[in-house]
Amino acid sequence: MTHLLLMSSLMPSRVIDPFGRPISYLRVSVTDRCDLRCVYCMAEEMTFLPKRDLLTLEELERICAAFIRLGTRKLRLTGGEPLVRRDVLKLVERLAQRLGSGLDELTLTTNGTQLARYAADLYRAGMRRVNVSLDTLDPATFTAMTRRGRIEQVLEGIFAAKAAGLAVKINAVAMRGVNEDDFDSMIAWCGRHGFDLCLIETMPLGEISEDRTDQYLPLSIVRGRLRRRWTLTETEYRTGGPARYFDVAETGRRIGFITPMTHNFCESCNRVRLTCTGTLFMCLGQDDQADLRTVLRDGADDAELEAAIRAAIARKPKGHDFVIDRRQDRPAVARHMSVTGG
Ligand code: SAM
Repeated sequence: MTHLLLMSSLMPSRVIDPFGRPISYLRVSVTDRCDLRCVYCMAEEMTFLPKRDLLTLEELERICAAFIRLGTRKLRLTGGEPLVRRDVLKLVERLAQRLGSGLDELTLTTNGTQLARYAADLYRAGMRRVNVSLDTLDPATFTAMTRRGRIEQVLEGIFAAKAAGLAVKINAVAMRGVNEDDFDSMIAWCGRHGFDLCLIETMPLGEISEDRTDQYLPLSIVRGRLRRRWTLTETEYRTGGPARYFDVAETGRRIGFITPMTHNFCESCNRVRLTCTGTLFMCLGQDDQADLRTVLRDGADDAELEAAIRAAIARKPKGHDFVIDRRQDRPAVARHMSVTGG
């Protein structure tokens, strides 16, 4: 008993934001670089950060460990493209050692181009699920949306992940006039291969060289159309993220909808985002941030690092206020999704 009391007084308590939301999910962008240039995500010409600005693997691991001590149970590595960072597997292996000791899940969001190379090692390290971004099954549309990708490479990666034992969820950003006619075939394909599918509304993040108003497609419209062909029943299923899921009776799989624009999901927000330079964003759609790299490089010990994280989360805003509107000619936040990691 005394032993337990001593343990609980030594363990920092989990961190809760000003609106009573426990922060249990950290998304970590491990690089801002990507081998694709998806039209809704990046501009055609991007300037990437100099390598010295990036947190080292040790620094990334230290921040993640502090979050786990403060109640984070789920870690998602993202980017840029997480699998183009050299030594990313080493980070996965180190973080995976915390699974079962505070951490419930370590996962990844990837464009899939490098999955054929990494899938088996990710599974071996302890990863069990991956999200793969794939907006269409049409090779020409895929190349156009990514401005350079080859769909065969991604499909090879997806099937390598499946063969390695990883559960795969496909994420697709819905774009008006681009891939809006592809979702029926994607539902059928995901059903055949045992993947869940999640559709995402485009969010106004960063200058992208194109007009977002032309791209934006509300998922309320898409869902109405899908119901003509598929029997969708809302479920309570959650993955700790913002998607609302429906069972698809005809395929036996699920389809999720991430609708930051038509249905703001901030009330249940449990997450914060760390960039590859150690900047912590408390909200995907707001600019307020905390610089954890300086804290670390100034020589903070674990207690000081935890205090900096607590102070940041004490400023977490209630939610974003995204608007996509022709009268508004600037994005809601200037940074690209590839900085904060989606
Ligand atoms: N490279 C990885 C990938 O492709 O999944 C991880 C990073 S990517 C920024 C994460 C997710 O954000 C992808 O599913 C991508 O489609 C999505 N995304 C990027 N920009 C977006 C935007 N403006 N609105 C909505 N989703 C976006």
